[in-house]
Amino acid sequence: MTSYMNRKDLTETIIPPQRREEISDAVRRAFDSIAQAAEQAGRRPSDVRLLAAVKTRNVGEIMAAVKTGVRLLGENRPQEVMAVASGLAQACREEGLDLGEQVGFHLIGQLQSNKINKILGLVSTVESVDSLELGVKLSSRAVRAGLSLDVFLEVNVSGEEAKSGCRPQEAEDLAFALAQLPNLVVRGLMTVGAHVDDEAQVRSGFAHLRRIREGILSQGEAGLDSCRDLSMGMSGDYPLAIAEGATIVRLGTALFGQRAYR
Ligand SMILES: *Cc1c(COP(=O)(O)O)cnc(C)c1O
Repeated sequence: MTSYMNRKDLTETIIPPQRREEISDAVRRAFDSIAQAAEQAGRRPSDVRLLAAVKTRNVGEIMAAVKTGVRLLGENRPQEVMAVASGLAQACREEGLDLGEQVGFHLIGQLQSNKINKILGLVSTVESVDSLELGVKLSSRAVRAGLSLDVFLEVNVSGEEAKSGCRPQEAEDLAFALAQLPNLVVRGLMTVGAHVDDEAQVRSGFAHLRRIREGILSQGEAGLDSCRDLSMGMSGDYPLAIAEGATIVRLGTALFGQRAYR
């Protein structure tokens, strides 16, 4: 287990009222700022969804965001998905919400194939599919479990070596191949922006992801018509991503503050 999980009880549902307020306020500010960025780009605010990146946060902190209107959650690690899933599902039910339905629960971090069975049925979507090999395994496990799984193809548009994601040149073929697999639905593309100060460079990466999606949709292939979402933009760069067409922005520190552990 990752070390911080031993130090922090992620299943904790009770948090201090000030902490709840702090998260609520930050979520409201994020909704406002997303709407503003959308309007500046001539887009409808409702076309951009806020995903709360909840790594290292406990159920109480996550629910403060849900109670303020967040309807998409993203976890990085399968271990964390397993740690919070049942408590989160219960807390959502108490709000009249179904986790996986009204509140989407996505895996946004790397998935090793030996963890697939652990998260299947817990998350509604895996945003971090970056190889056909992983897609094939997800598909066959989903078939065996009798369920359908939404996936995003993760693309490394920045070319930074430490990053996961397929190469941009492979994306179209890979999206097509994933779309042929039973019980998988390709919902869109995901990327993590370049880790640089140059805004033009970050923005051109996001524009690249949008062009890849246009290329995929223009093929008019059956099974790829659903490939519409662009999950891009984090706390440091989401206005740029919205300007380039993001339909999902994934915010962690902007909602919950700095992480004590990575
Ligand atoms: C942590 C994380 C985020 C959110 O990052 P912040 O900078 O805290 O907003 C988004 N996407 C992925 C894949 C992440 O791991």
